[in-house]
Amino acid sequence: MGKRLEGKTIVITGASSGIGRSTAVEFARTSPKNLRLILTARRIDTLKEVAAQIQKEVGDGVKVLPYKLDVSKPEEVSSFVGNLPEEWRDIDILVNNAGLVKGVARAPDIAAEDMNIQFATNVTGLVNMTQAILPIFKKRPDGGAGDIINIGSIAGREPYPGGSIYCATKAAVKAFTDALRKELISTRIRIIEIDPGQVETEFSIVRFYGDKSKADAVYAGCEPLTPEDIAEVIVFAAGRRENVVIADTLIFPNHQA
Ligand code: NDP
Repeated sequence: MGKRLEGKTIVITGASSGIGRSTAVEFARTSPKNLRLILTARRIDTLKEVAAQIQKEVGDGVKVLPYKLDVSKPEEVSSFVGNLPEEWRDIDILVNNAGLVKGVARAPDIAAEDMNIQFATNVTGLVNMTQAILPIFKKRPDGGAGDIINIGSIAGREPYPGGSIYCATKAAVKAFTDALRKELISTRIRIIEIDPGQVETEFSIVRFYGDKSKADAVYAGCEPLTPEDIAEVIVFAAGRRENVVIADTLIFPNHQA
C-alpha cells in the first residue's frame, strides 16, 4: 500500500488535532518515502508540532508543510493553492476533515451564530476546498485523477435530538459527496466518504464548551474509537488500487448501536 502512496502530495484539513492529526501521522508511517503532506488548520503552532513529530518519527523522506487555513473563510480557501510554493501544488489527495459542532440545542433554542459556523465550516468549507483542488485533478489525463476523502459522520445518517444542525451539516456532506461521485463517474477521480461514530478527540470537549465531565458522559457505557482507528481507514482507502473506490464507510465502536 505504501508504494501506491509514494510520490503523492496530500492536503489534510483540520490536521492540528484528533482524526486529522492522526491521519497525517498514519500517511507518513505508511509511506515514509517521497511523500508531501500539507497540514492545514487555524492553529499554526499546533500544526508545526505535528510536523515536528512526523519529521522526528520518519525523517525527511516525508516533507511536511504546515499551513494556516480557516476553511470557513472563502477568501483564505480560494488563495490557498496559489499561495503554495510551486513544488507543492500538484496535489493528489484532499482529506476534507475540518469540522466542528457548536452547542446542543433543541430547535427553538438554536443560536444563529452556532448554526452559521457549523454550516460555514462543515459544509461550505468542504465544498470550497473541493472546488479549489478539483481543477488540479481535472488537468490529468482521462478526465482527471486524484482522491477526495470527505469525513462525514454517523450523525448525517441518524439525526439525534439536540443535534439537528450538526446532523444537517453531515447529511449535506453525504448528499454533496454522493452527487459529486456521480458527476465524476467517467474520470479517475475517486470520491470517498468515511463516516465515524463516536471517536474520542478534542471534538467531545468542544461540544460542551470545554466542560469535560459533560463531554465524558457522552461516552458512558461505550468505549469510543480512537482517532487512529479512523486514520487507518482513511489511509487504507487512499492506498487502494486506482480502480477501487471505497465509496462510503460507516465505522463506529462495537457498543454504539
Ligand atoms: P477535533 O476537534 O479534534 O478536530 C477538528 C479539527 O478541525 C481541528 O484540527 C481543528 O483545527 C479543525 N477545524 C475546526 N474548524 C476549522 C476551520 N474553520 N478551519 C480549519 N480547520 C478547522 O475533532 P475530530 O478529529 O473528532 O473531528 C474531525 C472530523 O471528524 C470532523 O469533521 C468531525 O465532524 C468528524 N467526526 C468526529 C466524530 C467524533 O466523535 N469525534 C464523529 C463523527 C465525525 P483548528 O482548531 O486548529 O482550526
